[in-house]
Amino acid sequence: MLNHSPKKKILVTGAGGFIAHHLACRLKEMGHWVRGADVKLPEYSLTKADEFLQVDLRDRDNCDAAVKGMDEVYHLAADMGGIGYISQSHAEITVNNTLMDVNMVAAAQAAGVKRLLYSSSACVYPQFLQHDPDVTPLREEDAFPAQPEEGYGLEKLYTEKLCQYFTEDYGMETRVVRFHNVYGPLGTYDGGREKAPAAISRKIAMARDGDAIEIWGDGKQTRSFMYIDDCVEGIIRIMQSDHREPLNLGTDELVTIDELVDIVAEASGKTIGKRHDTSKPQGVRGRNSDNSRLRQVLGWEPAIHLRQGIVPTYSWISGQVSERRPGAGTAGTIAAVAAPNR
Ligand code: NAD
Repeated sequence: MLNHSPKKKILVTGAGGFIAHHLACRLKEMGHWVRGADVKLPEYSLTKADEFLQVDLRDRDNCDAAVKGMDEVYHLAADMGGIGYISQSHAEITVNNTLMDVNMVAAAQAAGVKRLLYSSSACVYPQFLQHDPDVTPLREEDAFPAQPEEGYGLEKLYTEKLCQYFTEDYGMETRVVRFHNVYGPLGTYDGGREKAPAAISRKIAMARDGDAIEIWGDGKQTRSFMYIDDCVEGIIRIMQSDHREPLNLGTDELVTIDELVDIVAEASGKTIGKRHDTSKPQGVRGRNSDNSRLRQVLGWEPAIHLRQGIVPTYSWISGQVSERRPGAGTAGTIAAVAAPNR
């Protein structure tokens, strides 16, 4: 069980998005005072934050306003999406995330924030270690020598080092978490930024029994997937730990994308065929998390199996899909506020 530490004032950036919205809810349940910040409100649920700043965090003044009076910052805001999005927008993603990350880390230090957690990604790992679907799980020290995912991954690796420098030069406590594919209810499931579990759930929800759905790549590429509840638990545990180096946060349950499709199909109760499209981006061939250090540092690791976590995820996405069918309306959702220039 997590320590229920004294009530703190906590900023959660990206709180209009998937992971940070769930995190803000959990921090509220723990009794903390929470300020959310994002260019948009949560799309599928009301925020539980005590205060919500709807601001562009690429702007330093907005970062200064967001960190004011805060004890801790969980910095999750990022311009991100699935492989289709991050492989086609290198310049825009790199500029947006660099501005946001540099300004947020510097603003937190200037405001005397005690601790900042930065959400990095498994995309920092070298591509040359991920050519085989039967991949060796990635250990934290494998990040160097570096050959990260272009744009998105390179910028994440840069900000990891920035956090280290702010600790060394200014004594600001930083924590760095490398997420491996997170999924669950209230995550983006359409529009081009969704990731594989959400995209596959949407396609299956829209398919009839016996239909075939399109799969990006040959379906043999491998990944591990972490359910949102494990992700939030891990983030808070890592923030509370004494560990200053980057840590993997993911499961080591490796599946092929074809297996993921079969697991979602099983949850849906439909028989689903597969049409592979190898002209579509598929990212690295294989990626898995080595959780040895996570276990050593926290005495804990994500434990929710994909087959378990997919059930509520599929159920939520299929509910959204039926609500959004023409004529069905969008009951229970808040309209997203358009993000400027993104
Ligand atoms: P998300 O897209 O749902 O949330 C990110 C939020 O950042 C969005 O709500 C977006 O509006 C906000 N944002 C973007 N630009 C902004 C700006 N200029 N100013 C203010 N807010 C801005 O993504 P998520 O899946 O919740 O990811 C959260 C964090 O975790 C990100 O840093 C992401 O890079 C990292 N991550 C996620 C995964 C995953 O599988 N979901 C994997 C690895 C890393």
